[in-house]
Amino acid sequence: MDYPKRKLIMLPGPTNVPDRVTDAMIRPMINHRGEMFTTLLRGITEKSKSLFQTVRDPIVLSASGTGGVEAAVWNMVRPGDKVVVPVFGEFSTRLAETVELAGGQCVRVIAEIGKVPTREEVEDAIAKTPGLKAVFVVHNETSTGCTVPYIEGLAETVRRTEAFYVVDAISSLGGYSIPVDRWGVDVCITGSQKCLAAPPGLSLLSLSAKAEEFIRTNPPKVRYFDLARQLDFLARGETPFTPAVSLYYALDSALEMLVEEGLERRVERHARHARTLYSVLDAMGLRGFADPAVRSNTVIAGLYPDGIDEKKFRKSMDEEYDVVIGAGFGAMKAKMFRIGCMGEIGPTHVRRTVSAMVLTLKRFGYSVDLGKVSGALEAAS
Ligand code: PLP
Repeated sequence: MDYPKRKLIMLPGPTNVPDRVTDAMIRPMINHRGEMFTTLLRGITEKSKSLFQTVRDPIVLSASGTGGVEAAVWNMVRPGDKVVVPVFGEFSTRLAETVELAGGQCVRVIAEIGKVPTREEVEDAIAKTPGLKAVFVVHNETSTGCTVPYIEGLAETVRRTEAFYVVDAISSLGGYSIPVDRWGVDVCITGSQKCLAAPPGLSLLSLSAKAEEFIRTNPPKVRYFDLARQLDFLARGETPFTPAVSLYYALDSALEMLVEEGLERRVERHARHARTLYSVLDAMGLRGFADPAVRSNTVIAGLYPDGIDEKKFRKSMDEEYDVVIGAGFGAMKAKMFRIGCMGEIGPTHVRRTVSAMVLTLKRFGYSVDLGKVSGALEAAS
């Protein structure tokens, strides 16, 4: 294949990868059972602790986010277990299905897309499920750009029960702060290709002492994703199976950048640029998709004006302006666009994306009030 041209990747993952991270990947191959790999892995483990805000060792799996979710489900759910899952889009639907594949009895708390089930609805389901084994929640529903605003409060509710609290934070951790130890999150999962600005292919998981004890006393019927085995190998500076070494190099460098910036500043940067993107979309006359009370800082979902062919629109943005934005999901595919506000996101990304959108809208026959748009951009900077 041809060497791809560099574009501005404004997808809701994968996102732009800084040169420093990409360059890290071309280091020579090393023995994954040797000292150098142990040093690399230990460095990743230490830095990941600040991402999850935990004193325990997070696990890195050579698997995309779905692998991390699958690992969480198969380690924590046993046949017949009752599990509450808020369902409000594609990824939470998949999560509920995965719980059922593992033999769990899923209690779905469903909201229409563009919304999130209310905290009361989820708490009601918890209260009405005797013997509840776990609550599994997608924090940021990437398919609709909706974030669960009560992720901390729900942790408190679950803590009052015997149940485990599992959070899919694949498209949010790093763009949002989830202090897993302080909140009592038993398993938290994230992916390399979102707010960490590393390439796709790795998932990271934190595991509480309570979750580890459960897995050790109730071994899961899995091998690759056996998290107790992962922890045993991690303790001696190895992974049980051949790790994606080049991606580990990249992750180490991406986490280094996170530590240098500081999690708090990174979270604030995501929130600031999300605010700008929402206010500029508004100035362009484009409606956001998510209920404003739950709209995401990392995935900006909006609706095209009537009559726009979304495929042609995205193709034009890509070919004329080298800006790549995401399509909608499922029933919203023809009407929705999604812009990733993740990882490296900065003023240049925002301005280039906005300029390309304005010019593409004009090309498609829609007039945009340029004064309003530049006013919204200026107000934000
Ligand atoms: N969960 C959420 C919330 C996601 O956003 C994604 C991917 O976008 C996944 C799970 C699946 O991750 P992956 O595509 O890396 O396997």
